[in-house]
Amino acid sequence: MIRFPSDIKVVKFGGSSLADAGHFRKVKSIIDADPTRAYVVPSAPGRRNDGDEKVTDLLYECFRMAERAEDIDGVFSRICERYDDIISGLGLDLDLSGEYEHIKWAMLHHAGRDYAASRGEYLNGLILARYLGFDFIDPSCMVKFFDNGTFDSELTNTLIGEVLSKHKNGVIPGFYGSMPNGTIKTFSRGGSDITGSIVARAVLAEIYENWTDVDGFLSADPRIVENPKKIQYITYRELRELSYMGASVLHEDAIFPVRFAGIPVNIRNTNSPEEPGTMIVSQTDYTDPDTVITGIAGHRGFSIVTIEKAMMNSETGFGRKVLEVIEQEGISFEHLPSGIDTMCVILKTEALDSGKRERIKDRICKAVDPDSISIEDGLALIAVVGRNMVKAKGTAFRVFKAVAEAEINIKMIDQGSSELNIIIGVEDKDFIKATRSIYREFYKQ
Ligand code: ASP
Repeated sequence: MIRFPSDIKVVKFGGSSLADAGHFRKVKSIIDADPTRAYVVPSAPGRRNDGDEKVTDLLYECFRMAERAEDIDGVFSRICERYDDIISGLGLDLDLSGEYEHIKWAMLHHAGRDYAASRGEYLNGLILARYLGFDFIDPSCMVKFFDNGTFDSELTNTLIGEVLSKHKNGVIPGFYGSMPNGTIKTFSRGGSDITGSIVARAVLAEIYENWTDVDGFLSADPRIVENPKKIQYITYRELRELSYMGASVLHEDAIFPVRFAGIPVNIRNTNSPEEPGTMIVSQTDYTDPDTVITGIAGHRGFSIVTIEKAMMNSETGFGRKVLEVIEQEGISFEHLPSGIDTMCVILKTEALDSGKRERIKDRICKAVDPDSISIEDGLALIAVVGRNMVKAKGTAFRVFKAVAEAEINIKMIDQGSSELNIIIGVEDKDFIKATRSIYREFYKQ
């Protein structure tokens, strides 16, 4: 087995942390401050200001234009300017014109959409490696996908271990790898987070630092709650619950590799490196002195399918038959709150388009012959999440009290026996008011 030093860190920088020369300087001082920050995973340059474009978006645009045989010169030179500005802003002796020419040629010769998108990280990686004095390591030789396009985690893990054991430090561009035939393949958008996570797993890093432009994971959506409290410690499971319900900082698929290896993730802010950020861990004894919950998240756009039938509870197979219909329509359900003679299935409203709504009703009628069936839209779900809720009495009461105080009707309640979360459903129009009221209750704003 290949051994790496036990205190090694893998550090990923997002696009906003590498948008221009000024940000590159901040990144260098972060790397220089800690020699255990050995492997660096960059994204492509992000937006420098509100009206700006991400380089990845420009690359997708170029690809679309090339496909339609349109002239890509204008957009392509904007991309090259972004990199040249960084190079000259840093005073580097680096000329990427040969790379640009090759990439442009490849785009005009049908090199593929993923190839085009991946060049954002590739070029940024070349610059960052030169600037830091680290080796440049192209992920296409070690991040591998199967022929069907799914990620080959085990082969990748072995290859990264083998390749990186030959480099004391290195810059590994995020977001892409290669197929068995060598063509470039990317993860989904935001996928550099995944690269960072799989590199961290392969070298058994002490920590995976994910540097971005916020001080950490917030306990509520800042567009809904003013200045929400930062989360200092969160478990992977809590993070999954909150991300699933709409909170986002880290790509969902980035959680699994590090979670599997028990490596903590530290979300940090490149613009305020003195902040400790958020630690994502398997387990923690940490309790926030101010609140029993870890966070609140939610979103609108759910529908409730309500099926009623007298004596339903004694009819064996009722639930299975209903769920079979949903499954056969290719829909995955979100929640199943049920009563004695009522079964409710909560689905995303968008999953009910293209005739599925009527088909589901008809097929459920045929399958279980209910007394009534209805589908109601306009539901918002709010999840109150916290590992410490298990120990605290009265959390559910406080959630309901907060919603009642806001004079809002709760349409649905769901609490798993793990007591990691309480989920309530309210009408879409009440979503913001209910979230704010719950937040006030638990964070005493
Ligand atoms: N540059 C890619 C994107 O914009 C990947 C990433 O930034 O993680 O989606």
